[in-house]
Amino acid sequence: MAKQSGFLATLGFARDPGAPVPHRKNTSASATEVMPVPATVTIAMSMHIGAPCTPCVKPKDHVDVGTVIGSSPAFMSALIHSSVSGTVKKVDSILMPNGSKTQAVVIDTDGQQTLDPSLKAPEINSKEDFLEAVKASGLVGLGGAGFPAHIKLNPATPVDILCINGAECEPYITADEHEFLENYENVIYGITQVRKYLGVEKVLIGIEGNKPGAIALMKEKTAEYDYISVVTLPARYPQGAEKVLIDQMTDRQVPPGKLPADVGTVVMNVASIGFLGGYLKDGIPLTTKRVTVDGSAITTPKNVRVLIGTPIKDIIDFCGGYKETPAKLISGGPMMGIALMTDDFPVLKQNNAFLAFNEKDAKSFEPTSCIRCGRCVDACPMNLMPTKLEDGVLFKDVEILKEYGVMNCMECGCCAFVCPANRKLVHAMKLGKMYVREAGQ
Ligand code: SF4
Ligand code: SF4
Repeated sequence: MAKQSGFLATLGFARDPGAPVPHRKNTSASATEVMPVPATVTIAMSMHIGAPCTPCVKPKDHVDVGTVIGSSPAFMSALIHSSVSGTVKKVDSILMPNGSKTQAVVIDTDGQQTLDPSLKAPEINSKEDFLEAVKASGLVGLGGAGFPAHIKLNPATPVDILCINGAECEPYITADEHEFLENYENVIYGITQVRKYLGVEKVLIGIEGNKPGAIALMKEKTAEYDYISVVTLPARYPQGAEKVLIDQMTDRQVPPGKLPADVGTVVMNVASIGFLGGYLKDGIPLTTKRVTVDGSAITTPKNVRVLIGTPIKDIIDFCGGYKETPAKLISGGPMMGIALMTDDFPVLKQNNAFLAFNEKDAKSFEPTSCIRCGRCVDACPMNLMPTKLEDGVLFKDVEILKEYGVMNCMECGCCAFVCPANRKLVHAMKLGKMYVREAGQ
């Protein structure tokens, strides 16, 4: 990371945290292709942080694109809409990629893609109207976090800077780059509306320097807005991590356990703001997603616009299928993504990539014993000791996990990337956090 002041410096960095991951943006020049409507979609009722939704449709019901099919009275939740027109086949319990179970609505599509007659562009005359509209859109953080947007955009403390996260620092993924290139009008419109209703003074659009086309385009298209600046970020992982991004762009440091709003900032992923801009114009809720499909086992890597609920295997077929037997399938990037045991899972709102690797590439992930080299400690942007935390996980020692700050881990994967023993450190961090939560601490 180029900048060693602010947050990182306060943590005592005289070194260069993060990881020099290869970019492998193979689909950078691949314009998004729209995938045909699949025969069936399976729409999970938990695609966000917070309470899962309860299905509000039943078998044999007709639904249209945008029909609400799941909702929850909980404060922390997000509406779920049908991505297709068709007939509800069943309401079922499905396994999620993280091993949990959730309810899902399975819909046989009719191929018509008729819009729900109730859909219309929201009428907005106040901040309350704006937040209601964001809630009705079903928007959650599309960068992967899945945080309900109507809550994020209603911070408890005043914010004066809106940061648009277009860093996209994970290898392979170019979906956000194409959000800039193909949807910049809605990105800019979304920015103007968030600025208007949140009252922010400044908007910073952060893009890593390995996307010169997106940087040039956004500079040109935002030139007339004196409150918008396009910031070229160093192309070094994990530039897109929220706290790293805020530090780099605003020189503000989010302390451990605090939120961006605590330092007067709100961060939105570029796909989120682009979707929001479009929704405010046409009222069509969140029903599609752009995903990057890549990896050594994929025949034709592509960016694809897919309907939420589409089976992953249908998307891979759309990309020419597997050219070799996939030995490892990942949802998301290789640094922070989740390994999938099957391609039967459906697309979720927060998915942005599916990567499939052949056996040779997958073998490079096999772990061996820790050699206590300390590289993981050097690489950690949060100044943690991953090797000590892994010990805490192995011995299920909650005191060690707390003492060494497992809850401050942002699961960026820098430690695992630099580890010569291929230790499963991110998985260990996730487990460690779960142990601390289970212990009620
Ligand atoms: S310990 Fe957590 S924050 Fe540190 S490098 Fe590993 S995954 Fe990233
Ligand atoms: S980088 Fe890997 S091998 Fe080296 S100390 Fe960390 S966990 Fe052990």
